[in-house]
Amino acid sequence: MPEEEPVVQVGDLDLRFADEVASQPGGEHIRRCFACGTCAAGCPITEVDPDYNPRKIVRQILFGMRDEVLSSPRIWYCLVCYRCYARCPQKVNFTDVMRALRYLAIKGRHAPSDVLKRIEELDRLAQSLRHNLVQYSFEKRSELLDAFRNKVEEQLKGMST
Ligand code: SF4
Ligand code: SF4
Repeated sequence: MPEEEPVVQVGDLDLRFADEVASQPGGEHIRRCFACGTCAAGCPITEVDPDYNPRKIVRQILFGMRDEVLSSPRIWYCLVCYRCYARCPQKVNFTDVMRALRYLAIKGRHAPSDVLKRIEELDRLAQSLRHNLVQYSFEKRSELLDAFRNKVEEQLKGMST
């Protein structure tokens, strides 16, 4: 079920936030967004988590919802697959906007260090799993799938302890 939206308080908005994001590499065209939602329609993360919505994140940035955006765990969900950028009719580079948000979150200490450590570990695991799968698609060796399964099982075991 989608999460209940918090009420936006005008006094909490930071009207310079959109400029700050636009000044980061890749964030330049964020104001071009006309909220068509094409980015959300093709995003693999939105498919598994309907509360993750690139269109909505862009709106929040443009409205100045700085703290809400930078402290949201969702800015760490993006797979950096560039699908949203490829499909955006306005050429808003949402993928690099996410990179900019991560940078600003770290710079502004919005992300606790234990969370960052965990994210780094998960990123490393994701890269390694991806490597196994890509390699398997070229060389159909069963040991590559076994290595993939072992890594996932090991990770799941670590998460349940
Ligand atoms: S696809 Fe582009 S224009 Fe449409 S909502 Fe997403 S960022 Fe905005
Ligand atoms: S780059 Fe991130 S936001 Fe864009 S489609 Fe991929 S996972 Fe979704």
